[in-house]
Amino acid sequence: MNEFIYNGQPSRVVFGAGALKHLEREIELLGARRALVLSTPEQQSQAQMVADRLGNRAAGIFPRAVMHVPMETAREAREDARRLGADCAIAIGGGSTTGLGKAIALESGLPILAIPTTYAGSEMTPIYGITEAGLKKTGKDPRVLPRTVIYDPELTLTLPVAMSVTSGMNAIAHAAEGLYAQDSNPVMDLMAEEGIRAIARALPVIRQQADDVAARGDALYGAWLCGTVLGNVGMALHHKLCHTLGGSFNLPHAEVHTIVLPHAIAFNSEAAPQAMDRMVRALGATNRASAAAGLFDLASDNGAPVALKDIGMQAADLDHAADLAVRNPYWNPRRFGPAQHGEIRLLLQRAYEGVRPD
Ligand code: NAD
Repeated sequence: MNEFIYNGQPSRVVFGAGALKHLEREIELLGARRALVLSTPEQQSQAQMVADRLGNRAAGIFPRAVMHVPMETAREAREDARRLGADCAIAIGGGSTTGLGKAIALESGLPILAIPTTYAGSEMTPIYGITEAGLKKTGKDPRVLPRTVIYDPELTLTLPVAMSVTSGMNAIAHAAEGLYAQDSNPVMDLMAEEGIRAIARALPVIRQQADDVAARGDALYGAWLCGTVLGNVGMALHHKLCHTLGGSFNLPHAEVHTIVLPHAIAFNSEAAPQAMDRMVRALGATNRASAAAGLFDLASDNGAPVALKDIGMQAADLDHAADLAVRNPYWNPRRFGPAQHGEIRLLLQRAYEGVRPD
């Protein structure tokens, strides 16, 4: 057994179909009396439903969360929280809504109760991001880690199938990179492998029947595990590439993760053989050539995009993307930096074309 450090993160998880019924109890346990409920405009009715449940314990709703937490939105939400005397923020939605809650907590220290309805995993991390003047700045602060997370698969039944698949692949990406993280530990390895397994099992069922509660439960359980891995250990090449492509070329978050993941894993396969074995096992991909091919097949068999050219990337931008990706590289099991520009450019070309890694 190698040396390791394990730091448990202090969040409370309440999981189960219908778990939203515990909301009042959980708010009570947080000691909150006036909760501000956050959502995107698309999920305003869910935010209203949460506020209605809370009655006079709801201070109001702020239904204007958008992708990547623009500073102006963060300021408005902070101002609303102050004006309404909120002592807690409830974020119902995906990573964008949780991210807005984090922006409020970062400034005010308000506790967040998160009710995730995608598989992005932000609710289990102390990582925040705020976008100002076109630049997304990220950081880590224990204050932004939601204190309580209610995972209710019934609230995910409305997540469209296409988004469910790419969001599931986004979650798997956290676990896949966690398996070869420099600061990993045996507990995170268990969670990562189990998280990949649960999501890989769930996606084909969800694709057939979007309102299968058991499969939705598996996927959300996997999202919790994968999000926990993201919150506990460092990410590597794959996340660097996705951050670059999403941030600089304005490509959609979950789709970029879905497309790039098999190629980043192929790049790292020889440098991290134990992680690959775990991935192959979790994907049930033993009759397939590799973890990378198994991930590609999971995405393409379930109808997800597999080529950057199909989600708005321009061929003319690939050189620049490679330049940006090798600048300030993250730690990675296989070295990548300016000297590996050619290999990263090739990786991006393959992701652009949607070539199945072998
Ligand atoms: P999202 O939160 O932007 O949601 C996408 C759309 O789906 C929104 O319109 C949302 O309202 C809708 N939606 C969500 N759940 C739904 C449901 N059950 N039914 C119907 N519609 C639903 O997307 P996301 O992929 O969850 O989050 C992406 C953002 O989260 C990115 O900005 C990313 O950087 C961030 N993120 C942050 C972390 C972190 O640790 N800080 C981790 C993962 C993602």
